[in-house]
Amino acid sequence: MKEMIYRAIGKTDMSASVIGLGTEHLDGKPYETADEVIGAAMEHGVNIMDLFMPGETVRGNIGRALRGKRDKMLIQGHICSTDINEQYDRSRDLKTIRKYFENLLRCLDTDYIDFGMLFFIDSEKDYSEALEGDALRYALELKEKGVIRAIGASSHNPLVARRVVETGIVDLLMFSINPAFDMAPGGIDVLDYLGEAAIDYEKNIDSGRAALYRLCERKGVAITVMKTLGAGKLLSPKYTPFAKPLTVPQCIHYALTRPAVVSALVGYSNRREVLEALQYLDADEADKDYSAVIDKYQGDFKGNCVYCNHCLPCPSGINIAEVNKYFDIAVLDEANIPPGVHAHYKALEKHGADCISCGSCEKRCPFSVPVVKNMEKAGMLFGF
Ligand code: SF4
Ligand code: SF4
Repeated sequence: MKEMIYRAIGKTDMSASVIGLGTEHLDGKPYETADEVIGAAMEHGVNIMDLFMPGETVRGNIGRALRGKRDKMLIQGHICSTDINEQYDRSRDLKTIRKYFENLLRCLDTDYIDFGMLFFIDSEKDYSEALEGDALRYALELKEKGVIRAIGASSHNPLVARRVVETGIVDLLMFSINPAFDMAPGGIDVLDYLGEAAIDYEKNIDSGRAALYRLCERKGVAITVMKTLGAGKLLSPKYTPFAKPLTVPQCIHYALTRPAVVSALVGYSNRREVLEALQYLDADEADKDYSAVIDKYQGDFKGNCVYCNHCLPCPSGINIAEVNKYFDIAVLDEANIPPGVHAHYKALEKHGADCISCGSCEKRCPFSVPVVKNMEKAGMLFGF
């Protein structure tokens, strides 16, 4: 298996493996399962996990599985995740959230958490309760004391998540991303939906999701992805909303080709599933190409790049998806291109100005993207 790839996490000094570990499938399972899954993932370089569950047993099992290697794993630990009345819940009450966060440290047998995640900021109410109340004050206090290294947040709502990112307080956002969510009409609750016949993909309207990813890239806020496989439904002929199911490498690649994304978190129940996801590292471009599955459901994607690279090869060696990605972010405010975006663009081997206007990419692009014009404009905007 090829070596793991790591991406820098925004403005922090940390880097995340492109494939991460969602731990929800370890809930209700014995210690041996946690040990098997975490062991297999870490053997292959996975270094980031999300742990949102409030239960002591699963927290303890994960802590035990990490014994002796805690420092090799970046942990997203959630502030506000509770199990009040034995039901998985969220609280914004200081006394309660402190109790649960301290319990997390104890269960994991650690004195720090890498990312203190403000949990489940989905509504305006969540925003005001968490970011204008005790939860944020508590997170800032933890950061000041070095108990958390950085502040993050989790959300499923692009509009509320944009407000969170605009505060400049968070370094990391965990957000639900997959092609079904991104191509669904705006305004639907993605948590309630996947594969419902009632959703009309032809009537796609802007849901603000692409704008969120671009905003994160501009602000230097990294994204880790939840619902990468759409709870497995995107892989299923029965439940997929598309004409055919996606594969695991296609789902992971879709997530990793959104702006600002550093890691696609996948939940695993056993070693086999870990290895299946890690096969992404060995997959070739054709295996990862998701464009043929989603190209019939273009909606507002028509004319806009989805960063699939189906248009390659380019005789000039341009990574067309990457140039388009940074171009899309730069045009949001041409006079103020963030230095991070400029640096990422500069780091590409070839740039917009290297385009020889052969037009072969446009013939291959299923989304009618004006690539030649984009390359020319990118070259002018960035200066090369
Ligand atoms: S230009 Fe078209 S084919 Fe190329 S990366 Fe963008 S959407 Fe995909
Ligand atoms: S038009 Fe430009 S970007 Fe497209 S394949 Fe030709 S050289 Fe590459």
